[in-house]
Amino acid sequence: MTPLLSVRNLKKHFPIKGGILGREVARVHAVDGVSLDIAEGETVGLVGESGCGKSTTGRCILRLIEPSSGEIWYRGQDVTHLEGEAQRALRRDLQIIFQDPFASLNPRHTVGGIVGEALIIHGLAKSRAAIEARVVDLLETVGMRPDHMRRFPHEFSGGQRQRIGIARALAVEPKLIVCDEPVSALDVSIQAQVINLLEDLQEKFGLTYLFIAHDLSVVEHISDRVAVMYLGRIVEIARSRDLYDNPLHPYTDALPSAVPIPDPKVKRRRIPLTGHVPNPINPPTGCHFHTRCRIAEARCKTEAPVLRQSAEGHMVACHLRG
Ligand code: SF4
Repeated sequence: MTPLLSVRNLKKHFPIKGGILGREVARVHAVDGVSLDIAEGETVGLVGESGCGKSTTGRCILRLIEPSSGEIWYRGQDVTHLEGEAQRALRRDLQIIFQDPFASLNPRHTVGGIVGEALIIHGLAKSRAAIEARVVDLLETVGMRPDHMRRFPHEFSGGQRQRIGIARALAVEPKLIVCDEPVSALDVSIQAQVINLLEDLQEKFGLTYLFIAHDLSVVEHISDRVAVMYLGRIVEIARSRDLYDNPLHPYTDALPSAVPIPDPKVKRRRIPLTGHVPNPINPPTGCHFHTRCRIAEARCKTEAPVLRQSAEGHMVACHLRG
């Protein structure tokens, strides 16, 4: 079956300019050849440390940032270079929820204005009464009260602001939502509420999610599959359960995770993660992870491992594992 969304060899390199002529002196390899399929109704988790390129990947998919190269396919159509009306129509189908709901909500607009704006832009409600009725409906859908539409973002808690962000994304009846660390800034108890809400909305509206997080434990329950990113590349992708029970890549094995192992008989190898993510301006040669990998061999410094199938649906990029 054709995936809802396919990304092929996506790259985003940011030039760094210097000198009095402002010439390019280096490049940040933020996303360095990401390929990923997402089926309709599926949730794919995208995890990795800060700076690994996961948010840039999400923004390139929505073309909030223009990719340097690669392809984005939606419903079997190449949408990488769509412009004008076609691009606007695609924007309706593909939405985003941001990590910091406060920064992403205009503080001078009421909640009604924020949620209703997309309805006006896309011509989805013609009259003031129709816009208000739809905003009330959306607020109730995300667990807020109708009278909240008259208030401003600063009057709400972080969790409520994230609900407003979700209502705004839902306003245009999207098919796929990039959830860019939507719970990272929230207390743990509120995180669970927002994740439960996202799950309920997925069931109700048949949504597809790309769920970005830096912690495996956050994406465990909500994701059907999880892709792990390191320095701009996907190093492992598998069904959620397989990734937790049997992580193959040494980086996945060491990623911070508060997940208790469900079966006490399952022995997980733990390889402690040391050091910091290398500078993406000058990533390590060969396997990008070799500077932090406890089991690296000589060839890891010169040969970049390709993502290959280890078991059905389980892909890993490592010379020694899988
Ligand atoms: Fe470690 Fe080598 Fe595998 Fe990279 S390819 S993760 S350095 S063992």
